[in-house]
Amino acid sequence: MRSAGRAARGLKRTLPTGTVLAAHRRHFLVALPDGERVECVLKGRRATLACGDLVEIQRVAGGGAIERVLPRTNLVYRSDAFKEKLIAANVTLVIGVVASDIPVDLELVDRWTIAAEAERCAFLLVANKADLPGFERLLDQLQRFVVLGYRVLPLSAKRDVAPLLAAVTGERSVLVGQSGMGKSTLLNALVPAARARTAEVSSALTTGRHTTTGTTLYPLHDDPSRGWIVDSPGMTAFALAHIDPHAIPEAFVELRPFLGHCRFRDCRHDLEPGCAVREAMERGEIAPHRLELMRSLVAESESVRDPSRR
Ligand code: GDP
Ligand code: ZN
Repeated sequence: MRSAGRAARGLKRTLPTGTVLAAHRRHFLVALPDGERVECVLKGRRATLACGDLVEIQRVAGGGAIERVLPRTNLVYRSDAFKEKLIAANVTLVIGVVASDIPVDLELVDRWTIAAEAERCAFLLVANKADLPGFERLLDQLQRFVVLGYRVLPLSAKRDVAPLLAAVTGERSVLVGQSGMGKSTLLNALVPAARARTAEVSSALTTGRHTTTGTTLYPLHDDPSRGWIVDSPGMTAFALAHIDPHAIPEAFVELRPFLGHCRFRDCRHDLEPGCAVREAMERGEIAPHRLELMRSLVAESESVRDPSRR
């Protein structure tokens, strides 16, 4: 009855839960379930929000005020050696994009799989530019991700994105990839209307201020709760130091069957006797480069937590 009472008095009116489309400092573009976009401010000293955050807002003159942030299911970061940035909250699917005309950085793809697993998201790898020579070679290189159980989706963003449209339906996705892979082309084909509309409204968000960080959410329908895609700027590095060192081995899918079976409970899966993980590698059941990456990610993560280890 509280909100009805307020409405009757003509004071602030509580609105339905909205989704954050874009963020700029303390200003946020929020989409309501009916498709309306409201420019909102975040009051108080609360930590900042990410695209995909669900918020309760109230109308104020000229826009809205964010009253409450709903609990997140997860928070996906992008980071390089120097800084960490939020990509999106409440993500269900991470989509990596590689292409046949740019040499593929396989370790970068491995890092995307770890980022996805650590936040309990599904991972999908798009192999773009199927129309160009060299595509078969790219598919051969990506076979190792198929072996791990990940789906590799071959397509040409310029010709037909239908297979990807099916994969993103109902999902809350994040697109990652180095620039030039075709992310913009994919997004234009998947969500043309949403892109045009968001560009228009988010320019309002940045008028007279500095430009946005470039991470933007595109709803697949008017109602963003029916699925969306977040685009983030191309990045050549993908640091994962924000993941807890103890959570890193679990994020390697192929290690899971062996974890907990080492002689020592605190095994680092390095040179310890009776290490079930290393033994699996020696039997050819775990790829050596993945185990090496696991160890270096643990070291990276520990070094940011304990500067004396640097
Ligand atoms: P982004 O930097 O990842 O956003 O990549 P863009 O979408 O800007 O694409 C980079 C270049 O690749 C552009 O010249 C696109 O026209 C081209 N491109 C994107 N998808 C395809 C494709 O499927 N086939 C071919 N031949 N070129 C593509
Ligand atoms: Zn071990």
